[in-house]
Amino acid sequence: MKLFTAKSHLRNYLADTGGLSQSIGFVPTMGALHQGHISLTKQCVSENEVSVVSIFVNPTQFNNPNDLTKYPRTLQQDLELLEASGCHVVFAPENSEIYPEPDSRVFDFNGLDTAMEGAFRPGHFNGVAQVVSKLFEIVQPDKAYFGQKDFQQLSIIKYINANYLKHLNIDIIACPTIRESDGLAMSSRNVRLSPQHRVASVAISQILFETQRLALHGSPVEQILQYAANAFEEQKLLKLEYFEIVDNKTLRPVSDFLLNTSHTACVAAYAGDVRLIDNISL
Ligand code: AMP
Repeated sequence: MKLFTAKSHLRNYLADTGGLSQSIGFVPTMGALHQGHISLTKQCVSENEVSVVSIFVNPTQFNNPNDLTKYPRTLQQDLELLEASGCHVVFAPENSEIYPEPDSRVFDFNGLDTAMEGAFRPGHFNGVAQVVSKLFEIVQPDKAYFGQKDFQQLSIIKYINANYLKHLNIDIIACPTIRESDGLAMSSRNVRLSPQHRVASVAISQILFETQRLALHGSPVEQILQYAANAFEEQKLLKLEYFEIVDNKTLRPVSDFLLNTSHTACVAAYAGDVRLIDNISL
């Protein structure tokens, strides 16, 4: 496995190894890797001749400076996990390599950023779009892999890929959410949970699973939202930020299930000072 920190070296390597004739798969990450990231990497390895994983904690997508400072960084362990998963190339640049000068680009997401993460984390998706567009230009993959765990992010990436980065001709591949055995969605932030908050955070996925069950049995949106609000109210160690049922296409919250439309229940909650997100398809 090769490790690059300079984008010019990575580009030269990809060109030399026949980057043009070989299919390149790409998994962008912020490191502190867990089995969720590794499942994306394994899928990437199995579907491409060359697989590239980036590890870069992107400062422009953190609206909360404290969250950026506390973001876990475990490069050595990440490299070991990636090597074992069959990854060929790791790109782990410094900030100055990605942002030699400040990025002032402002992206339009056609309203996909109005609700949920976009509403509660101002500027977050613009930062995501900045870094992903830069990484896509550097790696120029055929396929890029993203987790459904970050449901709104996935939708926004598909949008910018189709509207801003069309010339790169990249397929965006959506990968399922990997969970701990008790249901908690894997996240780099989970290591920051205290033992009590770790136990309490299981309720997030349990409430989502129950939401899915209620939806399958025909409960109306209003009743499900009431159920979720009450269930979170009972969780004294969790602080609910939002629970929404959204239309998969517009990402707007709905108050009734719409015919011929797919819906997803999305949640963000704090367990102590750790902000967790999760979602389930209904
Ligand atoms: P991050 O390092 O958090 O930026 O995540 C890098 C990629 O891994 C993103 O596409 C995430 O959606 C994906 N990812 C994070 N957690 C999971 C998970 N539990 N299951 C599947 N994919 C995940």
